[in-house]
Amino acid sequence: MNAQDSSTLPQEVQEWVVGADTGFPAVPSEPAFTAAGTPYLKTPGVAVIAKPEVNVRNISGFLDGFAPELQFSQYVDDPVTLPPGAAVCKAAGQLCYASFGVKRTYNSDAEKYFENIKESGHGSVLEHANYTMLFYGISRSVTHELVRHRAGVGVSQISQRYVSGRVLRFVERPEYQAIPELHGDFERRIDAAAADYNRIADILASEQKSGAELLSADYRTDLRKKVQQAARSVLPNETEAPIVVTANARAWRHIIEMRANMHAEVEIRALAFRAYLCLAALDPIIFGDYSVIHLSDGTYGVQTPHPKV
Ligand SMILES: Cc1cc2nc3c(=O)[nH]c(=O)nc-3n(C[C@H](O)[C@H](O)[C@H](O)COP(=O)(O)OP(=O)(O)OC[C@H]3O[C@@H](n4cnc5c(N)ncnc54)[C@H](O)[C@@H]3O)c2cc1C
Repeated sequence: MNAQDSSTLPQEVQEWVVGADTGFPAVPSEPAFTAAGTPYLKTPGVAVIAKPEVNVRNISGFLDGFAPELQFSQYVDDPVTLPPGAAVCKAAGQLCYASFGVKRTYNSDAEKYFENIKESGHGSVLEHANYTMLFYGISRSVTHELVRHRAGVGVSQISQRYVSGRVLRFVERPEYQAIPELHGDFERRIDAAAADYNRIADILASEQKSGAELLSADYRTDLRKKVQQAARSVLPNETEAPIVVTANARAWRHIIEMRANMHAEVEIRALAFRAYLCLAALDPIIFGDYSVIHLSDGTYGVQTPHPKV
């Protein structure tokens, strides 16, 4: 696939991101519906729900304990405020060399500071900033790939045992959206999957309620789980599987590089690219070395001269 490098974000892409001014960016995705009312999504949705809260000034007690001629105390008076991720990572990094004196790198040069961190591969410093995002409008196939990322990552995913058919939604692959025949097939398939799921759940529930030990549900509260854990077996890979992912900046960088890569699968690339957009809006110092690539299939990805820091 061909790729065109772009140093500035294309206008279309800029418009995807909302809420950047609130400090909690999101790339929303709205459901569509089949004629029978089965909901589905055409693009991934991303919403940042947590980021670091930083108070570097709180290390004053530590800095004040050193000889006055070192002038460490003025470290907390740096007039330039950094995005929270960069702020905590820089303070942690500067502790390593006790770089608190007047000859240190100031916040105004933070970009250069992090360029050096990335270039030299000292990525552990980037593990101090954690970001949490909700991902939705993504299929079970994508989340199965996403959860393979273990280092520095925490996940909570919707339980197909616990939730009922009332929150069942599906995800249409981009390839199907462009081809009327495949789009029609998709709509028919998800209508049928939703109907099958509900029919199986109804039969299992009524069997259980009539006293059959078919599901071996010991208590009434278990009934729903016992029914749904069986009924979910008919759900396809294109079932939506919302997930909340927390990862540190180093781990996010790795995920973005692997998954917003031009060789990555198209659905996970669409997700990783949107996650990148949110993180770059949040912290252009830590995530600013990526450039957007516009691929020949019309999708976007990113690349960086500093992979895997
Ligand atoms: C295009 C593509 C195709 C893929 N195809 C397949 C496939 O066909 N089959 C398949 O099973 N998987 C496949 N994968 C998944 C892949 O093998 C990884 O499991 C996944 O990308 C997670 O990345 P990671 O191993 O870097 O783990 P992460 O958890 O993201 O780890 C980040 C880094 O930490 C270090 N690390 C993490 N855990 C350990 C450890 N236990 N020991 C030592 N170092 C560690 C490594 O340096 C690692 O790169 C594919 C991934 C991609 C991007």
